[in-house]
Amino acid sequence: MATVTLTNIEKKYGAVRAVEHFDLEVNDGEFLVLLGPSGCGKSTTLRMIAGLESITAGDLLIGGKRMNEVEPKDRGVAMVFQSYALYPHKTVFDNMATALKLQRVPKDEIKRRVGEAATLLSLTELLDRKPAALSGGQRQRVAIGRAIVRTPEVFLFDEPLSNLDAKLRVRMRMELQELHRRLGVTSVYVTHDQVEAMTLADRIVVMDSGRIAQVGTPRDVYERPATEFVAGFIGSPAMNFIPLRREGSAWKAEDGTIAFDTLPFDTTGCDRVILGIRPEHIEIGAASETAANAYPARVRLAELHGADALLDLTVGCVQMLARVGGADHPTEGTELSMVIPPRLMHAFDPATGKALPQG
Ligand code: ADP
Repeated sequence: MATVTLTNIEKKYGAVRAVEHFDLEVNDGEFLVLLGPSGCGKSTTLRMIAGLESITAGDLLIGGKRMNEVEPKDRGVAMVFQSYALYPHKTVFDNMATALKLQRVPKDEIKRRVGEAATLLSLTELLDRKPAALSGGQRQRVAIGRAIVRTPEVFLFDEPLSNLDAKLRVRMRMELQELHRRLGVTSVYVTHDQVEAMTLADRIVVMDSGRIAQVGTPRDVYERPATEFVAGFIGSPAMNFIPLRREGSAWKAEDGTIAFDTLPFDTTGCDRVILGIRPEHIEIGAASETAANAYPARVRLAELHGADALLDLTVGCVQMLARVGGADHPTEGTELSMVIPPRLMHAFDPATGKALPQG
């Protein structure tokens, strides 16, 4: 096992800056997830750690040793790809054994290591099969097994579950958690899927346009997003954002329907703020509700998702999504009151996108 340290890492493709000002320390045994939308630089960062992309500037250390110019095979890393990249003409055993044979590991040792990995991944019965005779989930397990037998100091995963159907993805996600608990190997995992990130990660690195937007535990990035970008990216459906402007001591939405006497944030120097509230934090009450922060709303659309329902609400000129329980949810056209609990609100500076501290 090892730490991975990236110091001021930069990657340029010609004039395109794919990754810049990237500073991160992955702890020994940590499961770290790089998360962000397509094109934000996740794979490039992972491939620089693997040695599959050159590093334009900055330092990469694995286990305290500088690795910028070290060959991929000598970095002590093993990578699992989205495409599995198995040899179609080789059996499961040979697919898992190939790297060890190239390293001239003795035959008995290869048999032992492949056998152990196969047991761990429930592949023992399948060792003589070829990839074509395996399901998607089994192929992915072989790809993981091939990485495990090399006993790397660091696992690198590049969207390893994207090619699996939804049900299998959930199962493989749980298997990966179990595997990490048992092996405890430092892991860097790339995904654009926030549920994968939330469930697998010790810490998540949210990336935006080649830079780190926030590093934190899943709870940190969900409960205390550092920027409007992170707030909008983490959580499904996405957080509602309401632009407010200061009017005297109060804060109002464009048509004044939503208004707050005060906001529980330090708004010093701001004339405008973006208020954020997650759909699952909006409370719904009877139209007669008169509590503070209760606003008259109309259900424009209601979608039942099973256990819960999504309400598309019209509040004056503002559209909001609310997530409520699925049983007896309000239907289209219902007039009700929408409550925004102040303790669950977020606020962002529209000029910088940064979260405003609690006031
Ligand atoms: P992600 O993995 O987050 O989807 P990538 O790391 O693949 O993003 O890409 C980051 C940026 O670098 C994108 O703008 C992409 O177009 C660019 N990029 C990636 N690979 C190359 C390449 N070989 N040549 C030029 N630009 C590239």
